[in-house]
Amino acid sequence: MAQHDRRQPTRSARNPGPGPHSFYTGCMVSTPPGALERALKANHKYASGRPSPQRSWAPQMALVLCMDARLDPVQFLGLQYGEAHIIRNAGGRMAEAIRSLAISQALLGTAEVAVIHHTECALLGLTENEIRARVQRERGTTRVLPDFLPIADLKDSIREDLTLYRSTPFVRQDIPVRGFILDIQSGRLTEVT
Ligand SMILES: [Zn+2]
Repeated sequence: MAQHDRRQPTRSARNPGPGPHSFYTGCMVSTPPGALERALKANHKYASGRPSPQRSWAPQMALVLCMDARLDPVQFLGLQYGEAHIIRNAGGRMAEAIRSLAISQALLGTAEVAVIHHTECALLGLTENEIRARVQRERGTTRVLPDFLPIADLKDSIREDLTLYRSTPFVRQDIPVRGFILDIQSGRLTEVT
């Protein structure tokens, strides 16, 4: 039976597929079966040799960012242990993160927010209908599906998410809330104002 290539998004005039810096050009490889088993073995080794954690932690900020496997916020933001809540989802969209932000603030006391979208995001350039059709085809269902929150333009998507935050009464409005675009090639963040 032919394997489905689950990595390739639906192509269209707006999303013609691989570009010169696209991660679809070859950097990305299929996840081999058994990756989780390998990770579980690594966890066993990690936990076996680990002293009891005594490190203090005090989360001060919450970060909302894409689940893209290339994004390592500990590295590109120099995060200290326990310093940030990292809330991740496809695209790093506020609509999916707002529940976690409310808990981060009301229960755990974080007092700054950053939302980070990035270049070469898999959701960039796709339409809601394209993603919906792809999921429906792959899963063989036409049942109602969630809003997949595609990204047409990175600055616009950051502004949409900041606006959504600002219109949500159950998250803090008295703290800094900022939006950024991460350039996946350079690792540089640019603020969207
Ligand atoms: Zn992404």
